[in-house]
Amino acid sequence: MLKITIRTCVVCREKISQNLLNRLQCNEKKLSLFTGIGRSFYICNDCLKDEKKLEKSLYRVCKNKDNYIVQLREIFANG
Ligand SMILES: [Zn+2]
Repeated sequence: MLKITIRTCVVCREKISQNLLNRLQCNEKKLSLFTGIGRSFYICNDCLKDEKKLEKSLYRVCKNKDNYIVQLREIFANG
């Protein structure tokens, strides 16, 4: 039986099926895709395009300010 897990995008607060979200984590100002260890958060594909909103949300979830948009662009540059 297929179980659909619903998660909330940290930017728009929409509740979306987990497989349509990008799972990320922020550890000591280093943004990366979720490694399987530690806290993670979800961002939907629409919000990835809205860098202004995205930056504000990343500051909030990471609890500090850094060049997260640059890091995010690098993460998604290959895919
Ligand atoms: Zn979103």
